[in-house]
Amino acid sequence: LKSRFKYTPEGDAHFSEDFVQRVADHYSARTNQTLEEREASPIIHLKKLNNWIKSVLVQLYTRQGDVVLDIGCGKGGDLIKWDKARIGYFVGVDIAEGSIEDCRTRYNGDADCNQRRKKLTFPARLICGDCYEVHLDEVLVYDGPFDICSCQFALHYSWSTEARARRALKNVSALLRPGGMFFGTMPDANVLIKKLREADSLAFGNSVYWIRFDEEYSEKKFRSSCPFGIEYQFHLEDAVDCPEWIVPFNVFKSMAEEYGLELVFVKNAHEFVHQYMKSREYVELMRRVGALGDGKEDKSTLSADEWEVAYLYLAFALKKRGESNRR
Ligand code: SAM
Repeated sequence: LKSRFKYTPEGDAHFSEDFVQRVADHYSARTNQTLEEREASPIIHLKKLNNWIKSVLVQLYTRQGDVVLDIGCGKGGDLIKWDKARIGYFVGVDIAEGSIEDCRTRYNGDADCNQRRKKLTFPARLICGDCYEVHLDEVLVYDGPFDICSCQFALHYSWSTEARARRALKNVSALLRPGGMFFGTMPDANVLIKKLREADSLAFGNSVYWIRFDEEYSEKKFRSSCPFGIEYQFHLEDAVDCPEWIVPFNVFKSMAEEYGLELVFVKNAHEFVHQYMKSREYVELMRRVGALGDGKEDKSTLSADEWEVAYLYLAFALKKRGESNRR
């Protein structure tokens, strides 16, 4: 995948677009936290809630032996979820070299990585690359076809240009087998734009996050048939501080259909929580991940500000058109 990088005379790799580099640099620079640091995070319950949402998605759609592609896999925070689902093979791709290295450490069960001690049961390939630029089907010729493609909190980085948004969907479509599932989480554009309209400036937020839109932001572009490159700066305490792009879900849905990916469901994270908390199995899972705490003392549960951040996101699932030949 290095052929898609530009090289400086010193030999350092750089992505061809500055905004791609800024995202890659931000995530690459984020270091692994110790368990103590993680528990002290101001958004620890939000992180746990997000893990619960991702676990529910994995459990809903993954079957034993599945071949899984994780786009924007980050530091491998979902590896244990895939192990619990007893998948057969895993490919993780991420643009941030530092994250891929941490993911490899976590996969190998390095003693310094306190997130995991047990040996993972599936073979894996971890690659550093730009999923919204590289023709992944050419790179992963012998790895697929995939039963599952997961993209958690990473798809919105493809909406900086139409070409990148299309490349993301082409990659997923080319690699999934007919009947295969594409699911994930990303910002809910309707919520972001509603909050922007209610704000008295181009910025809004609370004690744990802020979002600031560009001076050039225009509602007309958001409503147009070409709503790419609508940039905002996102800051989430102890997690994110980089540019992101609006993904109007109706356009995403029609574009996905062009690539044979049909919508199964889309739900704002609040609605998702309310729906799956009706199931005893997922209530039990929520208790185990500890997102809602035991309510006995302050800070033992999700704060109102963290719950507001959850509202900024949605969960989706799409299915690749065609006859299902799932085992
Ligand atoms: N999926 C992981 C999770 O849920 O923990 C990481 C989520 S993190 C918010 C977003 C990830 O997307 C980062 O690891 C980042 O490096 C990755 N990313 C952003 N742009 C990307 C691109 N063009 N190609 C591959 N990965 C990308």
